[in-house]
Amino acid sequence: MTRVFNFSPGPATLPEAVLRQAADEMLDWRGSGMSVMEMSHRGKEFMSIHAETEELLQELMRIPSGYQVLFMQGGAIGENAIVPMNLMGATGRADYVITGDWSKKSAKEAKTYGTVNIAVTADASKFSAIPKQSEWKLDAGASYVHICSNETIGGVQFHWTPDTGKVPLVADMSSDILSRPIDVAKYGLIYAGAQKNIGPSGLTIVVVRKDLMGHALPITPSAFNYQTQAESDSMYNTPPTYAIYIAGLVLKHVKALGGMEAMAQHNMAKAKLLYDFLDGSSFFRNPIAREDRSIMNVPFWLKDEALDAEFLKGAQARGMVQLKGHRSVGGMRASIYNAMPIEGVQALVQYMKEFERSHG
Ligand SMILES: *Cc1c(COP(=O)(O)O)cnc(C)c1O
Repeated sequence: MTRVFNFSPGPATLPEAVLRQAADEMLDWRGSGMSVMEMSHRGKEFMSIHAETEELLQELMRIPSGYQVLFMQGGAIGENAIVPMNLMGATGRADYVITGDWSKKSAKEAKTYGTVNIAVTADASKFSAIPKQSEWKLDAGASYVHICSNETIGGVQFHWTPDTGKVPLVADMSSDILSRPIDVAKYGLIYAGAQKNIGPSGLTIVVVRKDLMGHALPITPSAFNYQTQAESDSMYNTPPTYAIYIAGLVLKHVKALGGMEAMAQHNMAKAKLLYDFLDGSSFFRNPIAREDRSIMNVPFWLKDEALDAEFLKGAQARGMVQLKGHRSVGGMRASIYNAMPIEGVQALVQYMKEFERSHG
């Protein structure tokens, strides 16, 4: 068996140790005689998996007691509607900060549920930097302020937390949740699809301040009502049981590696390796403002895009896959989530050096 270095933006690479454990437990989970996939979500076996996964998330993210963890479905794109359905009712309007494709999409979807104010957009800089908060036009009467903490396509990331005063801060953290320590108390709500840094697709993590629940618009489907899900411990409908189980294994693995501080160190070391090389190269480039560069998704361009196909083919031959950039921006993109080992980035940089030498 040969495993590749998988630079996919999502669904993305998972820790090999987790996949091995899942394989070992596939037919018989700890003497239950069943696969986790076959268990009733209300049986004692799955209930213990569910509870342990939730506790691990609370511990790793240091989630304060006034917050509810929800395991939902529908992904981050689902949450683009579910968040306004649940929170916009407070005042009927919300602020959106546009730093790239994902936050743009969030704002567009929210318009169905109330008045969306674009507090700021970075489109003038082609989304190559995060606008300073002094440039934002925030509405004191907004129900919330929405940001995307890491733009997976553009490769910009917040390395600071906005201060929105009494207005709750909502963040789409799909592509950087669990990559570094954050202060949950500064947020009203955090959401993330699991398939970048946590586990398989199908599971959506929501962490919501408890006082923000219970004000959903009357049109909100009950399966997507935070209050309803909180009252049923995320089991109002059948949760994505297998995805929750894998997420639990990943969280245990991350805890054993040293938690959020260890992940941040590991991720910064990988990102530094790649950005230092890009900055010293006259063949490859990354146009993002240094202070706003993502440590999770690193887009880069070759000097001559006619060489893109050859670059990708050579990478594939060396066991490095999924490096093609998003179709909307072209070029390349290396997604280097928690589970990407430093050896993967070393191999990539080595290949880029060789490619530059032979084509530069
Ligand atoms: C991947 C991603 C999404 C889309 O997630 P889905 O699970 O497809 O809904 C949204 N926002 C960000 C920041 C992402 O990285």
